[in-house]
Amino acid sequence: MNVTDRVLAEVEQARDEAVAFTSELIRIPTINPPGEAYEDCARFIGERLAECDFEVEYYAAEGRKEHTPQYPRINVVGTRRGRSMHPLVHLNGHFDVVPAGDGWTEDPFGGCVKDGRIYGRGSCDMKAGIAAALFAAEAIRRAGVDLNGAIEISGTVDEESGGFAGVAWLAEHRRLSAERTDYVIIPEPLNVDRICIGHRGVYWFEVETHGRIAHGSMPFHGVNAVDHMGLVLERMRRELQPKLAGRRTDMPVIPAAARHATLNINGIDGGQPVDGIQTPCVADRCRAVFDRRFLIEEGFDATKAEIVELLDAVARDVPGFSCGLRDLMIVHPTRTPDGSPLVAALEKALRRVLGRGGDLVASPGTYDQKHFARIAGVPHCVAYGPGILDLAHQPDEYCDIADLMNATRVLALAILDLTRTVC
Ligand SMILES: [Zn+2]
Repeated sequence: MNVTDRVLAEVEQARDEAVAFTSELIRIPTINPPGEAYEDCARFIGERLAECDFEVEYYAAEGRKEHTPQYPRINVVGTRRGRSMHPLVHLNGHFDVVPAGDGWTEDPFGGCVKDGRIYGRGSCDMKAGIAAALFAAEAIRRAGVDLNGAIEISGTVDEESGGFAGVAWLAEHRRLSAERTDYVIIPEPLNVDRICIGHRGVYWFEVETHGRIAHGSMPFHGVNAVDHMGLVLERMRRELQPKLAGRRTDMPVIPAAARHATLNINGIDGGQPVDGIQTPCVADRCRAVFDRRFLIEEGFDATKAEIVELLDAVARDVPGFSCGLRDLMIVHPTRTPDGSPLVAALEKALRRVLGRGGDLVASPGTYDQKHFARIAGVPHCVAYGPGILDLAHQPDEYCDIADLMNATRVLALAILDLTRTVC
C-alpha cells in the first residue's frame, strides 16, 4: 500500500476511538459564558495529544480580566515535529460551547451516539472538529509516515465570546506567529464539503443622544433624548439601509443574503426604567447599540465615516440635537489569498475523499481566523471541518459520524500534501 492508502486505512481503523473521544469531550461541559471546566478540557486534550507523541504546553491567559481563579482560561498546544519544523500545519479548535438552552430531547452533555450521529452541545461546534484534527495526525503516525514538516494542534478558549483569552492571546504572546506557522486550518462546522476562506467585518458601536430634563407636563421646556434617538433610527432606515442593501461583496458569503452590508440594532435604553416608579420627566438620555457588518470592499474607515456623517446630518437638521459615538468592537474582514496552497491542498483532498472539490465559502459572522490573520500574521488560514453549519448553537445539535470520518480523512491528506510529504 502507498502512503496515502495506509493513512486512510488508519483513519478507518480509528473510527470507534474518534467517536468515543468526541463523546468524552462533549461530557466536559465547557459552557461559555462563564467559561466552565476549561482546565479539565485542556488537560483532557493535552493528555491525549501526549499519548499521540505531541509535546504539550499549557497557556493560561495571564493578564486577561476574564482569566480568574474561579474560571481560569487555559489553552493547550501540542507540537509534533517531523524531519523539520517547516512547513508547519497548525490545526486549531475552540473547546468552549454556548449554553445548551431549551428544547433538547437528548442530554446536551451526555455525548450520546445514536443512528450514526453524536449528540450534544458542541458536537458539531466544534468538538468533532478537534477529534478530526487529532485523529488525522494520529493516523499519519500510526501509518509510520515520517513527515517533512510539523503538526501543531491547539485547543483554545472563548471563541464564542471573541477569542481574546484564546487564539488572540496566543498570537499576542507570539506563540502563534508567521515565523513559526505556515498554514492554519480551523475545523469549524462549515459542512464537510465547504472550505471557508474568511469573513465579513464587524463594527459594534454605541450612540448616545443627550437631551435636557424638564417637567413632563411641559415637555417644550426640555429636549427629549428618546425622540432624538428615534430620528437617528429613522434616518438609518430611510437613508443608510437602502445603501447597505445595494452593496455586494465578491466574497462567497453564505447564505447569499449576507453578501450585502447589514445593520442590526442590538438594544436601546433611554429615559426612566419602564418597570420603575414613573415621574413626570423629559428623557434626558438614550443609548442604543448597533451591529454593523461591513464588507471587505468597504473597509472600516469608510464604514465608520458613514455613521459619523449620518449623525452630523441629523445634527444639522434638528435644533438642539447632540450625541456621542463610541466604538465597542472592531473586527476587520479577512480573506485567504487567492491561489493559497492551503486551499489547493484541501480541494485535492476533498476530490480524493468525496469525489468532488469543495465549495469556497465565507462566513457571515466571524471566528478565530481574524486573530490568526490580523495578530499572528498568518495569511494562509481557512476553516474546514465536520458538521452542519446550521446545527451550531441549536437544540439537539449533532455531528454525523460519516462527516467526522470524512473530515478526518481530508485533514490527514491535506497535512501530507502541505508538509510536502506526499503531494
Ligand atoms: Zn465554533
